[in-house]
Amino acid sequence: YSGKSVMNFISEYIKKIKVKDVKRVPVVVQENTSVYDAIVTLFLEDTGTLFVMDEEGYLAGVVSRKDLLKIAIGNMDIHKVPVGIIMTRMPNIITVGPEDTVYQAAKKIVEHEVDALPVIIPVKKEGDTTSKYKIVGKITKTNITKIFVELGNY
Ligand code: ADP
Repeated sequence: YSGKSVMNFISEYIKKIKVKDVKRVPVVVQENTSVYDAIVTLFLEDTGTLFVMDEEGYLAGVVSRKDLLKIAIGNMDIHKVPVGIIMTRMPNIITVGPEDTVYQAAKKIVEHEVDALPVIIPVKKEGDTTSKYKIVGKITKTNITKIFVELGNY
């Protein structure tokens, strides 16, 4: 094989894998979950990013490790502060759909400098002008790294 065709192979391979093929189960909390409980969840579930849903179960926001650390080192009572007031909120969440490629997801992770993306499907409700989104999975840097390792195993 020439170098060019090897690169073509890799390029085609990573564009063939879809988000739905590698997505993982997201850890989700409610907007009124306390920062304290969110931190406990982070440890118990062995994850770095929590996805936050509203009362109806739709995507409301994202909370990262550093979001929680920032509050924990401040003067706020982490038992009282809900994640809903510290999270990064919709519509500012970077997302992917199940049919997107892993390559598109990796590009978004790099461009927006985040660790994880929620995998979402839009739900248009009667009378609503904007869509709401169900969280059906997550794509993380760990996912992408595993695919990279698999490529190395060829
Ligand atoms: P950390 O900085 O804790 O290592 P991230 O780099 O993922 O984790 O998060 C950096 C910031 O971006 C945090 O404020 C977080 O709320 C926000 N964030 C994380 N994931 C997303 C996302 N998918 N879309 C938008 N913002 C995000």
